[in-house]
Order: sequence, then structure tokens, then C-alpha cells
Amino acid sequence: MRTGWLIAAVIGCAVFAGGCGDTLLVHDPLPPIFLSRTDTGQLTAQVPQKLPIYGPQDTTIWIPKVSERQWQFIVIHHSATPTGNAAEFDKMHRDKGWDELGYHFVIGNGTGSRDGEVEIGPRWVKQKHGAHCKVTGHPEYNDVGIGICLVGNFDVTHPTEAQMASLARLVKFLMKRYNVPRGSVYGHGQLKPTDCPGRNFDYSDLWRRVGLS
Ligand SMILES: [Zn+2]
Repeated sequence: MRTGWLIAAVIGCAVFAGGCGDTLLVHDPLPPIFLSRTDTGQLTAQVPQKLPIYGPQDTTIWIPKVSERQWQFIVIHHSATPTGNAAEFDKMHRDKGWDELGYHFVIGNGTGSRDGEVEIGPRWVKQKHGAHCKVTGHPEYNDVGIGICLVGNFDVTHPTEAQMASLARLVKFLMKRYNVPRGSVYGHGQLKPTDCPGRNFDYSDLWRRVGLS
């Protein structure tokens, strides 16, 4: 019995690594992924050292706690900046006069947040329409389009392995939960004249990872 409790304590410590002072990378069997707590709707990049780290199979953190929007599209972006995180892009978007961060999710590259970390923006918490894909005559891409932004300028660099792994997991989760077909998952540049998500973004790699290649 004592041994059992000891094992439980060690496992508990590993799962909630923040309380043990060390960062835990979960490698089994997928690459490391870091998900951010969303209970309060706070942007996690503001308190990165206190983030809980969830196991690789745990996608429940992405399930909204409010009534879900009838999402029909997923639109992938890059930030076109070498660095950044959700909090920084939130400020950039507010400085442009927008209400708040235009994307629903931001996937870090190890600069402003951890590599492969999925930050959940306040729009997703509230299930609010996007502000990331304005196409004349097609308000639906913002109204019912989920915006995912990968940090980086993929005209110059490539997404990291952890970013692509996290993107694939997130896209797979969202497609299943909202019944979004492959044909309704776009890169920004497939909907309007823009390089976004960058010349080096590899769609076939994404679909291979999602299991739909
Ligand atoms: Zn874009």
C-alpha cells in the first residue's frame, strides 16, 4: 500500500511538474506538447513558469466551457514574425484598433512561448467569431472560421517539428469535434492573395500527420 502511494505521488509530481520545480517534457509516444490552462481565459504567456503541462493524449483542454459555435472552417496562418506569442499578438491587434487577438489559437516556436505550446486565445474561450481572414463577399471565414496562428515567418524559416505536431493534433481534434471536412481546412493564402502561412508551409506534411494524406 505504501509503495502504491509512493508511486502515485511520483506520478502526480511528474504530471503537475510545475509544483516540483522542473519542466517535464512528455515524449511518449508523441513529441512534447504543452497546453495552457484556460479556466480564467488568461493568456498563458503572461505566466509561463506556472503552466501545468498536460499529457500528450489530453485534448479535453480545448473543449470550450461555454455553448459552442457552429464552426465550419479552419484557417491556418503564420505570424510573419520570427518571435511572438498570444499576448504579443493580442497587443498588436489592439494597437490596430481590433477588439482583441484575432486568432483563436497560437502555436509557439520556443521564443515567446514554448516550442509547440498551444495557447488558447480569449476568442476561443468565449466562442467568439474570428478576426483573421477578411475576404470580400465571404464573411463566413471569420464568422465560423477557427483561426490558428503558428509563430514564425515561414517565407524565411520552417515550422518546428513540435509546431507541426501540435498543429496536426489541434486540427484533427477540431475537424472531428465540429465535423469540418478536409476541404474546409485552408491556409490563409488559399482564400485570398497572401503568402500566409508562408512559402515553406508544407500542407502535405500536415495532412500526413493528420492521417489524411
Ligand atoms: Zn494569415
